[in-house]
Amino acid sequence: MERTVIDNKENLIGYSREELRRLFQEWGEPAFRGDQVYKWLYNKGAVSFDEMSNLPKTLREQLAAHFRLGALTLIAREVSADGTEKYLWELRDGHRMESVLIPEERRTTLCISSQVGCALACAFCATGKMGFLRHLTTGEIVEQVLAAQRLSDHTITNVVFMGMGEPFLNYNRVIQAARILGDPEGLAIANRRITISTSGIVPAIRRFARDKEPYGLAISLHSPFQHIRQQIMPIAETFDLRDLLDSAREYVSQWRHKRITFEYVLLKGVNDRPEDARELIRLLSPLRAKLNLIPYNDCDLGFEAPDDARLNRFLEPLMRAPFTVTVRKNRGNDISAACGQLYVKVMKNERTPRSRKKSVDKIIPLK
Ligand code: SF4
Repeated sequence: MERTVIDNKENLIGYSREELRRLFQEWGEPAFRGDQVYKWLYNKGAVSFDEMSNLPKTLREQLAAHFRLGALTLIAREVSADGTEKYLWELRDGHRMESVLIPEERRTTLCISSQVGCALACAFCATGKMGFLRHLTTGEIVEQVLAAQRLSDHTITNVVFMGMGEPFLNYNRVIQAARILGDPEGLAIANRRITISTSGIVPAIRRFARDKEPYGLAISLHSPFQHIRQQIMPIAETFDLRDLLDSAREYVSQWRHKRITFEYVLLKGVNDRPEDARELIRLLSPLRAKLNLIPYNDCDLGFEAPDDARLNRFLEPLMRAPFTVTVRKNRGNDISAACGQLYVKVMKNERTPRSRKKSVDKIIPLK
C-alpha cells in the first residue's frame, strides 16, 4: 500500500485491519491490538492517539512517534441554501481536492474524490481542465468521509466515488477504501450504499464484475451515440460504447437483482433530443438499468442545461421506458457544487488579487 509520508510520519488512516495487525506483530505485540486501533480509527473516528484508551500508554506513545492521524486540511467550505456543503481539502504535499455533502430527506450522500485532477478531460467538466496531478491514497479517500462526518450535523449514509478523478484508474486504493467504509467495524456504511462511478474504463468494469465487488456501479454515459460520446468524453475513443455495454451486461449477469445506474448529464443541443431518448431506451432496455438524468451545472465551459421545453420533449419518450428514470434535482446551485468547481474558483481567486474579496464573501473562511 502506498503511504503519505511528508513529515517523516506516515498517515495511519488508510491502513487495513490486516495491515494494522501485521504492524503490531512486527512490534512484538499481539495482533488484536490491530483490531483495537482499527476500530478507533474508523468506527470511533479518533483524532488523537490519546483517545485510544484501551491501549497501554507506551503503545500510544509508540504510535504517536511513528504515525500521524490524517492528511487533510480544510481550506474552504461552502454551504448552499438547500443544505448542500462543499469542502475543499489541502493535502500534505499542497495539492487540493474536494468532497460534496448532499443531505436529503431520508439519506445524506457524500461525493468523494479519488484523484487530484483527472486525465480524462471530459469537455463539460471543470476537473478535466486541470489535467491529472496524482492519485489519492487510500487514507486520503477514507479521511474525506471521516472529516466530513465530523464537520456536518447530518449522518452520512451513502458514499459515491463521483468527485474529482476517475476511480477505476486508481482501482486498488479505491477498493481498499470501499472495504474500510463498508466494514461494520470500520465506518459501517452499507456496501449497497457505496457506489463507484466510472466514465467507462472497460477492463476495470470487467474486473469489478468478476470479483463480485458488493458495491454499486454507476457508468457515466452522457450519450447513446458513439460519435457524440467521443466528442464530449475522449475516453470513449479508447473504450467504445459497444464494449462498455458488454461490460455492463457482464456486471449485471453476476448478480440476481443489482442494477447499474447510468449517469447522463443533460447538455442543451448535444444529448437532449428525442432521438437520444429513443436510442437510450433501445440500448438500456436489455440491461437491469436505472437512468439518472442530471441537468448540467454551469461551469463556464460552453455548455448549458436544456430549458424546460427541451427537457420535456426529451423526457416524453422516456415515460415509456421499461427501466427507472430519475431527474436529479440540481443541488448547490448557489455554490460551486459541480465536480472541480470549488477548486477552480479558489485557485482563480488566489491568483487574482482583485477577486479575492469576492471569494471571502462566498467561501466560509476556516481557522
Ligand atoms: S467528468 Fe469525471 S472522468 Fe470526466 S474529466 Fe471530470 S472527473 Fe474526469
